[in-house]
Amino acid sequence: MSESSKAKLILEHVKVLILGAGPAGLSAALYAARADLEPVVLTGLQLGGQVSLTNTIENYPGFPEGVGGVELGELFQKQAERFGARVQFDSAQSVDLSTRPFKIVTDDAEYLADTLIISTGASPNLLNIPGETGLTGRGVSYCATCDGWFFKDKKVVVVGGGDSALEEGLFLTRYATSVTIIHRRDGFRAGAILQKRAQDNPKIKVVWNTAVTDVIGGEKVESIKIKNIKTNEIDSFKTDGLFIFVGHTPNTQMFANQLEMENGYIKVNHRGHTSVPGVFAAGESADSWFKQVITSAGMGAAAAMEATRFLEQETV
Ligand code: NAP
Repeated sequence: MSESSKAKLILEHVKVLILGAGPAGLSAALYAARADLEPVVLTGLQLGGQVSLTNTIENYPGFPEGVGGVELGELFQKQAERFGARVQFDSAQSVDLSTRPFKIVTDDAEYLADTLIISTGASPNLLNIPGETGLTGRGVSYCATCDGWFFKDKKVVVVGGGDSALEEGLFLTRYATSVTIIHRRDGFRAGAILQKRAQDNPKIKVVWNTAVTDVIGGEKVESIKIKNIKTNEIDSFKTDGLFIFVGHTPNTQMFANQLEMENGYIKVNHRGHTSVPGVFAAGESADSWFKQVITSAGMGAAAAMEATRFLEQETV
């Protein structure tokens, strides 16, 4: 960064800074705001987090008919703002956790934070195969809710065998004429309800023990190359779209040398404390196991309660 752009930075000292505006970050904001700590939430690039990429959430309590992902994110934000949380469309570029207050430099400002709650979530994994990146947005997608509409009366392929693959595959049957789920093993890891729904849906076919090895197309995806993992047989499969749901990687690179980590996830104790006093983590940046909206929201609330306690203890 040049000296002249540095000079434009706004410097702000806050009691609680929250990185990420998904269920964890906005629940932390609600609790910190209700503790009168006037938290600031930096949204990062994905306002609402991954939940906003999900069409319908059916397992968040309080919504017996389900609730839209974007709608739930907006409700979380509205509720936190009602108590004084400030949500900023800004991204952290670097953090310095070596001394308190912690220093966080963003696109637009520089913050000094007495406590930091990290809820930066996770991003979808790529297959890392030829053609994938070049055709992203032209038939390759990581979000059925965002792109499903473009595949009305078309054929699509879904890769993966987890909850995301089945849930998004089911969503795609609203538009596509056929949805072929290609999975590398001969069994899904998705939950039983989703498996049953997929099995009962006449538009869904499953190809087991198969890897997608290439995406072929010019302007748009035209076909994919597939390989049977058991027989090594290679084949071509015509499709208009390729939706990839092969897990996620936590967005924690920025903290790698400053906090203790485990397989890329921020290490926290059962109360959301990281290895640095005053820094807390919640949601998928710190949870390699549950990864649910409700568990992320719960972790966010817990982290904010602990941040509150941490600040109170200092003033005693
Ligand atoms: P996930 O559970 O980690 O599943 C990823 C899937 O991708 C697995 O089936 C895996 O195969 C496959 N895979 C991974 N790398 C691959 C590769 N390089 N090539 C081909 N396939 C590959 O991820 P997820 O489905 O995104 O779910 C993440 C978490 O969110 C889970 O805890 C899930 O329960 C939760 N979630 C819940 C809901 C819901 O409750 N409604 C909805 C969405 C997600 P293997 O099975 O062979 O490992």
